Order: sequence, then C-alpha cells, then structure tokens
Amino acid sequence: MPDAPGNRPHESTTCAFCRIIRGEEQAAIVFEDSLSLAFLDRRPLFPGHCLLVPREHFETLADLPAPLVGPLFQNAQLLERAIEEGLAADGTFVAINNRVSQSYVGLNLLYQFLPLASRLFTLVEWGPV
Ligand SMILES: [Zn+2]
Repeated sequence: MPDAPGNRPHESTTCAFCRIIRGEEQAAIVFEDSLSLAFLDRRPLFPGHCLLVPREHFETLADLPAPLVGPLFQNAQLLERAIEEGLAADGTFVAINNRVSQSYVGLNLLYQFLPLASRLFTLVEWGPV
C-alpha cells in the first residue's frame, strides 16, 4: 500500500527541488498549494519554461502515492492552462522527469512545461528551418 500523503519522511538534503521547497534556495515561484510548487526553470529552453514538483520528495511517478496522482495532475492542468493563456502559446510540451539522467538521480519527480509556438516546436524537433 502506498504511503499516505504527509506520512513519509521526504526531505532530501541533496535534492535541489527540496531545497527550493524548504526556502533554502530562491526560485521564481509561479504556483503553490499544499501539494506542490511550480517555478521557472533556471535554464529555460524557452521563456516561461516551468517546473512543477510535489512538496514531498518522490523520485519517480511510480513512487507517487495513488491518492496524489490525480491532484498533482490537476495542478499540472492548471499550470498548462495558465502558461498557454499567459504567454499566448500555441501549445505546451509537458514531460515528466523520472531519473532521466545521472544528473537527475536523487532529485524529485517533476513535470516540465515548455510553452510552444508552432515555429519554436519546429526548431526543437527538426533544427533550424
Ligand atoms: Zn526533492
């Protein structure tokens, strides 16, 4: 049975996202509630590139307790709408990082939101046109 929200020690001392959640590192926060926090990526691929992380430290989607999956995804929906409306983006590329590289080992599960204009997506997908 998955751990219940709030009953799991999660505060990693090495995770950069946990440090932001604890207020030990600054970030440009764009959304927060009791479950999650969203902030601008420090090395954005596009202006408005945001990251959404659960306040508890879970490294993968599989680690996320079932009761949190729906609420976290609802926050992802809110953020996606806000990014598209606020930045007049044509769409949003949304990805979930699950230890995608050695540099991500020990970091939180996170949702990435990349606001896209059709032309920009073409540049990323196929290179300059
Ligand atoms: Zn963390």
